Amino acid sequence: MLISTENKPLPVITDLTRPFWTAAKEGRLVLQKCKRCGTFNFHPKPWCIECGSREIEWASAQASGTVYSFTVSRSVAMNLAGWQGEIPLIMCLIDMDDGARLYGQLTDSDPDSVHIGMRVGVHFESISDDAGIPKFHPAT
Ligand SMILES: [Zn+2]
Repeated sequence: MLISTENKPLPVITDLTRPFWTAAKEGRLVLQKCKRCGTFNFHPKPWCIECGSREIEWASAQASGTVYSFTVSRSVAMNLAGWQGEIPLIMCLIDMDDGARLYGQLTDSDPDSVHIGMRVGVHFESISDDAGIPKFHPAT
């Protein structure tokens, strides 16, 4: 496992996933989009999850969505010291308004107020010299 200087896990970036991480570093949310049927894919794949087409492009996605599910870690978060300062840690599955379902951390929230159906927006955190990560916050 790659570990950042903040003692958090780093993604393994491949040619298939690099556009996602690079855009997040620049403060933009991009997802794979099928050129044939318009479906947004996540996680990145060489084909469309809906129609199987290999005509995929990276496209800007709306930075808003709805909590599909979540969990709150109140003790140990992945056994890495870098997470300890963020406990309680809220991790969510988010149904993005463009259709993809993302997994990510919800910040700026009281864990007791998080709920399924909660509207969220996206912000970005730099995690290395060449990658950022989308995180979520309550919609305003
Ligand atoms: Zn498709």
